[in-house]
Amino acid sequence: MHKKKATSFSKKKGQLPTKICAQCGLPFEWRKRWERNWAEVRYCSDRCRRIHHLTHKR
Ligand SMILES: [Zn+2]
Repeated sequence: MHKKKATSFSKKKGQLPTKICAQCGLPFEWRKRWERNWAEVRYCSDRCRRIHHLTHKR
């Protein structure tokens, strides 16, 4: 068998990127709603984001 593959990069199905929530510290998975701004997402939910803003308010 001489099958040449252009790339050895294989995507595992079901393996989503994860991040750690900056507020609750829990890991959370990529979600469809974040597909446009995943790079900016820092919190697992709107609630965490709100809490973070509240606790860091001066
Ligand atoms: Zn969180």
